[in-house]
Amino acid sequence: MAEKRDYYEVLGVARNANADEIKKAYRKAAIKYHPDKNPGDKEAEEKFKEAAEAYDVLSNQDKRARYDQFGHAGMSGAAGGGFGGGGFGGFSMEDIFSQFGDIFGGHFGGFGGGSRGGARVSRGSDIRVKVRLTLSEIANGTTKKLKINKTIACDKCGGTGAKDSSSYATCSTCNGSGYVTRVENTFFGRMQTQGVCPTCGGSGKIITAKCDKCGGEGVVRGEEVVEIKIPAGVGEGMAVTVSGKGNAARQGGIAGDLLVMIEEEHNPELIRDGNDLIHNLNLTVTTCILGGEVEVPTIDGRAKIKIPAGTHAGKVFRLRGKGLPDVNGYGRGDILIVVDITIPDTLNSKERELVEALSEQPHFKEAESAEKQNIFERMKNFFR
Ligand SMILES: [Zn+2]
Ligand SMILES: [Zn+2]
Repeated sequence: MAEKRDYYEVLGVARNANADEIKKAYRKAAIKYHPDKNPGDKEAEEKFKEAAEAYDVLSNQDKRARYDQFGHAGMSGAAGGGFGGGGFGGFSMEDIFSQFGDIFGGHFGGFGGGSRGGARVSRGSDIRVKVRLTLSEIANGTTKKLKINKTIACDKCGGTGAKDSSSYATCSTCNGSGYVTRVENTFFGRMQTQGVCPTCGGSGKIITAKCDKCGGEGVVRGEEVVEIKIPAGVGEGMAVTVSGKGNAARQGGIAGDLLVMIEEEHNPELIRDGNDLIHNLNLTVTTCILGGEVEVPTIDGRAKIKIPAGTHAGKVFRLRGKGLPDVNGYGRGDILIVVDITIPDTLNSKERELVEALSEQPHFKEAESAEKQNIFERMKNFFR
């Protein structure tokens, strides 16, 4: 590669040139060396790119400051921001044209080149549906079959919208090419721009006789039963996308997607906290004092846990790995059993006698210290 020329020299401006002077100089060079004005002229193309590169740097305060300090060396590598490896490799003609909106006030739209655009294919719209899942379905993953009302491809014409295979003619607007060429007067002189044919949408063909079932649309209203696989561990507000199961598109285009929004059925016994499930367990005073065995809810039924004698309110038992699987496969959450103590609202005379007798016993005479008693402190410590 030849020695890189100084950017100021390329644009023919002084080192202290202001933004306006730089812009004017670049505009002059861009018009002079534009490829459409110099077809097949490699040297002009190089000059055109060289000017664009110089403008890219000098029109940007940061890049210009770096260039002023370090020269071309300051422009290479990651720090160069835009020019991969200091060469011109990362700077395409498209990039150059993206500068033009700025320079030419948006007048210059396209760049003549047959490959641009491509056939415009119609796309069906997406459909959103909601599914409500139980905890067990979330935990294990599930498959749902949903009947979806939507546009489907017309079965009579196979989605083409044509009456039969002879109901086509070559598009007269584009003569079957799918593209139209426009000639515009621009800063660069007369310019050709190409775009997708508005008559046939790029297919090059038009339908002469429409399918009588769908009226030429290629789609009709209908319903489809869609099977949706929902992975384990999903949560409220997540969406599962089933691509291509949305509305069918006109005349054989690409169908939209089916977006399945997840809702969680409220479970009063197991409250979800990420992948963990929290259960508030009410125990009687006597179970807490004497210990025992109680049933607790889990995702797939009930389990028995042992309550040790002397269990305090706020105590948390952890059923490790009994929570929900992580949707990304990072293990499984726990079930956290949080103890609360039920105090009877009323007592009969026998109970009152027993409790009064109990209250005279040494272990029931004094309340615990505030620190030991404080449920919130203990729970806070646990969750921390
Ligand atoms: Zn049809
Ligand atoms: Zn056409």
